Amino acid sequence: MVATLLNIFAAFSRAMSKSGERTFLAVKPDGVQRGLVGDIISRFEKRGYKLVALKLQQVSEDHLRKHYADLKGKPFFEGLVKFMASGPLVAMVWEGLDVVKQGRAMLGETNPLASKPGSIRGDYSIDMGRNICHGSDSVESAKKEIELWFDAKDLCDYKKANDVWVYE
Ligand code: ADP
Repeated sequence: MVATLLNIFAAFSRAMSKSGERTFLAVKPDGVQRGLVGDIISRFEKRGYKLVALKLQQVSEDHLRKHYADLKGKPFFEGLVKFMASGPLVAMVWEGLDVVKQGRAMLGETNPLASKPGSIRGDYSIDMGRNICHGSDSVESAKKEIELWFDAKDLCDYKKANDVWVYE
């Protein structure tokens, strides 16, 4: 009961704070196999974002069908689900100012060809079906994805000592 109240209070304070936005990111199986997990985490850490949850996990096709429900019916849907279930991926939640939009910018475009050098996809991928990393495309889908991938108890609410050097 007390824990629930504290969680509600923490969520409320976060919602009130400009730096409390959260996004869901996943280093896809190709990113894990290619040894890019550390690099991707490092980019978000260096940018100033806060890691709130992280797990290495091989997930079921059923779980991925839920995650990619909006894409059901697309010709690449089944291949995408099978690929994402083919090996471990790293699921993460990151927090900070405009992290959904900035996270997408750091990822690059869905098509690596359109992704600028300097972005994750622009630096490390050449094929749309092997584009290394997933990031929520809106605050609303971030909320849904975080709920699908993580239990509320696994999301860490903590203060970072360097916040005063990251935020005005
Ligand atoms: P994003 O991951 O950039 O949000 P989407 O949600 O539209 O893009 O698509 C999910 C994933 O499906 C993409 O990251 C990509 O791996 C794959 N994908 C999208 N479009 C295609 C396509 N035309 N052919 C093959 N794979 C695709």
